[in-house]
Amino acid sequence: MKVLKFGGTSVGTIESLTNVKNIVDNLEEPSIVVVSALGGLTDRLIRNAGAAAKGEIDLNAEMTHISGRHKDIIEALVPEERREEIWNIVNRLLNELSDIYKGLSLIRSLPERTLDLVVSYGERMSSVIVAGILAEAEHHDALEVMRTERWFNKDIADRALTETNIKREFPLPLKRHCVMGGFISRDRDTDEITNLGRGGSDYTAALIAAALNASELEIWTDVDGFLTTDPRIVKTARIIPAMSFVESMELCSYGAKVIYPPTIYPVFHKNIPIKILNTFNPTAPGTLISEMQEKDIPSVCGVSVLGNTGLIAIRGALTANVAEINTRAYNALSRNGIGVLLVGQPGHASDFSIVVPIQDLEKGVRLIEAEFSQELKEGELKEIKGERDMSVIAVVGESIKRINGLGPRLTNTLWRNGIEVKCVSDGASETTIGIVVASSSASEALSLIHESAIERG
Ligand code: ADP
Ligand code: ASP
Ligand code: MG
Repeated sequence: MKVLKFGGTSVGTIESLTNVKNIVDNLEEPSIVVVSALGGLTDRLIRNAGAAAKGEIDLNAEMTHISGRHKDIIEALVPEERREEIWNIVNRLLNELSDIYKGLSLIRSLPERTLDLVVSYGERMSSVIVAGILAEAEHHDALEVMRTERWFNKDIADRALTETNIKREFPLPLKRHCVMGGFISRDRDTDEITNLGRGGSDYTAALIAAALNASELEIWTDVDGFLTTDPRIVKTARIIPAMSFVESMELCSYGAKVIYPPTIYPVFHKNIPIKILNTFNPTAPGTLISEMQEKDIPSVCGVSVLGNTGLIAIRGALTANVAEINTRAYNALSRNGIGVLLVGQPGHASDFSIVVPIQDLEKGVRLIEAEFSQELKEGELKEIKGERDMSVIAVVGESIKRINGLGPRLTNTLWRNGIEVKCVSDGASETTIGIVVASSSASEALSLIHESAIERG
């Protein structure tokens, strides 16, 4: 049994949904199909919610647009005998959505949970429609299955409870294809509608694949596979035919948008291979992500870039204390729910830097100042400073440790081209070198590093 996930671009139009239907109807065995909202809809639902809360939404025009998109697809692709049934379900959801927007216009505020409720309509509608389009498929409600818990003001999957629910919802062997919306969930304690984070449909599919020991997880998207870098920035990006779980995990945590980062761990843990495939070119071989044997020739697998980060610079530590300060700083952040993206040195042995998501920068600086208040007072540390608008470029490969002098070669390339390297990761990772630059030079740095590490080998 396989799990297939189709992203927003794959379920965005009549043409792309025709491809989805062909792919699924031709499968040899019943499978689970996870779908995103129609392409671009989640962004629109969020924009509308913000506008409604300011009293600036043109509700009729918006609802006509959203309902028109769904109705056109139903009319073109759902067999006539099921059209009314499917439209009635979607129309009821559209009416609820419209009422919520009206409510937001009245109360003139946008509580977080109401935004979660608003965005849930995307996958609730698309999944019902896709189930209606496929030759033989049953619809499953993600809100009855996926559960989250609250963790430092974030919703994260409650994996144990979700796994139990998945096993109950999908008894094996499957009799026919099952379609479920990705991304959406409910809080396990309050039952409120939540979600797994933007791009989270991949994660829904991975949790199902892991819980049911699927033979494979297929992520169907709009490119021919996992590419050596972001094709929207570097036109010479090329397909990676095969890569390891760790390589994909590292590239995705540092910004490769093709898979939502938490997706990989549950399937990696069960050794379930992932394939990245193109809905618009279904016969292309794509990328196989699996446990890979070590390569004979050490090489760089890919390069990615993560923007929206900030750097906490810790200056003037006694050289003898750097390791200890490093550990304390890391712990102070992690204890408070801040995910450290990189720890590295800016070149000076007594300084080091910690990179965190931009939204955590201010809190991070405060936590580090509190942790080291004594050292700052006594002059053992000179300064703690936050710098905004940073990007991390990650150079990833299972065997990069065996490539002599790769880090210095890449940083020299950047310096030679006038790009300041803010810091380089401390070398603790076996598979990744992280290079931090100002976001204004990130695209150029990515192209230069791709050219040096991949195109020229
Ligand atoms: P979906 O709607 O299918 O979930 P996404 O937009 O989330 O699709 O992810 C696919 C997009 O990710 C591609 O269109 C591509 O532009 C972008 N992308 C960024 N980095 C990479 C990469 N290294 N390999 C492939 N695609 C990438
Ligand atoms: N529709 C959601 C989003 O746009 C989830 C997903 O597409 O994976 O983020
Ligand atoms: Mg995606």
